[in-house]
This record gives sequence, structure tokens and C-alpha cells, in this order.
Amino acid sequence: MKDEPLRRTGRDLAARAAYLERMEKTDIFISGAGIAGMILAALLAKRGHTVTVCDPSTPADAMSDEDSDLRSTAYLAPSIAVLEEAGLWQHLAPDATPLEALRVMDSTGWPPRQTATRTFRPGDLDLPAFGQNVMNWRAHRILLDALNDASRVNLRLGVGFRSMLARENEVRVTLTDGSRLSAALVIGADGRNSPVRGAAGIEARDRRYGQKALAFACTHADPHQHVSTEVYNGGGAFVTVPLPDHEGQHASSIVWMSTGARIAELQAMNAEAFDAELTERALHIMGPMQRITPMRVWPIITRTADALTARRTALVAEAAHVLPPIGAQGLNTSIADIAALADAIEGGDPGRDAALETYARSRHRDMAIRATAIDAYNRLCQADSGPLQALRSAGLKAVHDLGPLRRNVMMAGMGGA
Ligand SMILES: Cc1cc2nc3c(=O)[nH]c(=O)nc-3n(C[C@H](O)[C@H](O)[C@H](O)COP(=O)(O)OP(=O)(O)OC[C@H]3O[C@@H](n4cnc5c(N)ncnc54)[C@H](O)[C@@H]3O)c2cc1C
Repeated sequence: MKDEPLRRTGRDLAARAAYLERMEKTDIFISGAGIAGMILAALLAKRGHTVTVCDPSTPADAMSDEDSDLRSTAYLAPSIAVLEEAGLWQHLAPDATPLEALRVMDSTGWPPRQTATRTFRPGDLDLPAFGQNVMNWRAHRILLDALNDASRVNLRLGVGFRSMLARENEVRVTLTDGSRLSAALVIGADGRNSPVRGAAGIEARDRRYGQKALAFACTHADPHQHVSTEVYNGGGAFVTVPLPDHEGQHASSIVWMSTGARIAELQAMNAEAFDAELTERALHIMGPMQRITPMRVWPIITRTADALTARRTALVAEAAHVLPPIGAQGLNTSIADIAALADAIEGGDPGRDAALETYARSRHRDMAIRATAIDAYNRLCQADSGPLQALRSAGLKAVHDLGPLRRNVMMAGMGGA
């Protein structure tokens, strides 16, 4: 009788060993199959790692779906190089529209009065285009199809990350369906409210602007000529990004930033009134405009994680940094994280401390500089009139008209030093 507890313990240990033997093992677990998570999974698989990715949501099939992401991303040249290595660009390219120029316009008052316009061209950097624009909902769909065909990637949609226990040699992950797996490295690519960031005990800091952004697509009477335009006025930037024609009509995607109150006012307008305001806000650059999709609303914040890594854990993309959507920096900065992390973990245990330190060191400075620069730029873009608005117009002219300064600013915007 006395031996009974010991015997039970022995049985328990054997059962536990068998359970652990059956537990799914993967080199790398990625929480989040957003655009960043999927690009990362494809790149890591190309480099020989086994990868499991999970996401509770499933991507939209059409632009009109209730949950489709109506933002678009301008993939800048360095990001396209990463997508090519991951074997993804060939799939995205047919849906891409080239960005052949960036026009920046300043305006004041309402109806807006134009105060400065300058156009930046990629030829200054010996490039045919600044980048290629793809609607996010299309990119989700295309990347998902590519990952479904990728070897070494186990994609688990409809199930989310719940918790993790990081040990010296592995991380045990529990998913929302109760299943568990073991990985050498866990990566949080699970967005601005990253559950992995929370589970790793990493705090994040916010800077708020009282601003929101409306994202949607529209058609317009005149062609965009592959030019993306940023128009400043009180409340923030208004950005048009070229899209392929929609049912035979010229089309662009729009990000319209303003105060929360103004965004609420715009959302409450009927279609005709909204389209009139839209055309006015765009300074009539492409003639009368007509919204063709529902609108999505995004709060504008800068959010920075206090650390990029913890034991056997790394954060990328919006889990690590959220930026206001100006200058096409958000996802492009995320793709720079992805490339740096893939390089840092090459050769050996992907979750080793030294590799994660290398990753954190390589990204810390760039992220901090970009967050500070975009924060300042966004505050300047919010000015309606007076000295700040005058400074903005003068600054735009100076940056453009001084050749070396123009090229330096363009290089920085493209991800260069
Ligand atoms: C209005 C607007 C316009 C923008 N325009 C541009 C642009 O032109 N160029 C640019 O470079 N960037 C742009 N950005 C930024 C860019 O869209 C984002 O950086 C990018 O979409 C975020 O990608 P992500 O994969 O990090 O996050 P998300 O797209 O938020 O993906 C996170 C994923 O994690 C999943 N998730 C959540 N919880 C869990 C869980 N428990 N377990 C597993 N998964 C989970 C979510 O379902 C989601 O699929 C813009 C941003 C905004 C707001």
C-alpha cells in the first residue's frame, strides 16, 4: 500500500512522457497571420525552418466582405526584395500598381486653399518606381494561398494564441482550442494589441493625437497617372494611392486622417454629401470622386514596445511598433523587422539569446528614429493655419527644391540610412 503513490507517480510520468512525445513540435511558432506574419512564415520556411502560424480570423474573399481590410500598402523597393526572396512577389505582382511619383500638397482652411505643391520622382534615386501598391484584402488572400502551398508551413486558421511558458530550451504554447505545441522560438506578429507581447510581460507606450483615419476605395473622373498624393489640411494628411481600374473607371485607395469629431461627421453623411467633401478635400486633383467601398476607421497612435525580445520570444510589425499611416512606413518598417529577424536566427537554435539580442540591436535604432520622425511629421501635418502651417509649406518647398536634401529625405523614406 505504501508504494502506491510512488507507482502512480511513475505511471503519471510515463503518461506525461508519452503526451510530450505526441505534442506538436515546430522550430518557430508565429502568432498572427496578418500580412506581416504570413511574409515572415514564408521567408523562414524558405530558409529551412519548420513554422506553425495561427490566427483566429480568416481572410476576406472579396473587397465588399464585412471584415475585408480596405487599406492598401505601398511596398517600397527594399520590401519587394524581401518578398522576392520569400517567393511571394511573383504572386502579388499581378495585383500591384506602380508608384511613379509622390506629390505633396499643402492647403489651409475650408474649402481648402492650396499653398504649396511639390512632386518627388523616383528617377532621383535611379529607380523606375518608389514601390508597388496592393490592396491589403487582396494581399491577405494571395499570401494565404501561397502559404497553403508552402512546404514546412503549418497554417492554423480559426484558432488563436492563448498562453505560453518559456523555458530554457523551448517554449510551450497553448492555443485557444486547448491544443499545445512546443517551439524553439515564439514570434508575436499578432498586431497592435499583441497577446504574445502581453504574455511575455513586455509593456508598450502610446502617443495619441486625437486623430482617426478613414480607409476606403473610390473611383474618379481623371486618371491618377500612377501618382500617390498626400494633401495636408487641418486634422492631418489625406492620402490617395493608385489602384488598378475598377469596372472600367479610374480608382484609388484613400486614407483620410482628421480629428475624431470630423471623422464621425463624415461617417454620418449621405453618399452624395460625402463624395462632395471627398472631392473638395482632394483639391479636385482627379476630378469628381465617388466612394465605392464601405469605410473602415482606425485610431491613429504611435505605440512602441518597451523591448523587442524576451526569453525565446521576439516581436515584429505592429506588435512591436504602430506608426501613423504617412509616408508608407508602417508595413515597410515591419518587413525590415522580418528580414532582420530571419538573418539574426540563421544557423543554430533560432531561440538562442545571442540571436535575439542581435535582432533587437539591429532594429532598435531604426524603429526609434522612424517613430520619432513620423510622430513629429504627423503633428506638423495636423496644423490648420498660422505659423505651423506656414512652416509646413516652407519646409515642403525647401526639402524639394534643395537637390541633396531632397535625395536624402527620399532615401530615408525608402528605408535607407
Ligand atoms: C489607415 C492605415 C493605412 C496604412 N497604410 C499603409 C501603407 O500605405 N504602407 C505601409 O507600409 N503601412 C501602412 N499601414 C500600416 C499597415 O497597414 C500595418 O502595419 C499592417 O497592416 C499591420 O500588419 P500586422 O501584420 O503587424 O498587423 P495586423 O494586420 O493587425 O495582423 C495581426 C494579426 O494577428 C491576429 N491576432 C490577433 N490576436 C491573435 C491571437 N490571440 N492569436 C493569433 N493571432 C492573433 C489578427 O487576427 C491579425 O490577423 C497603414 C495603417 C493604417 C491604420
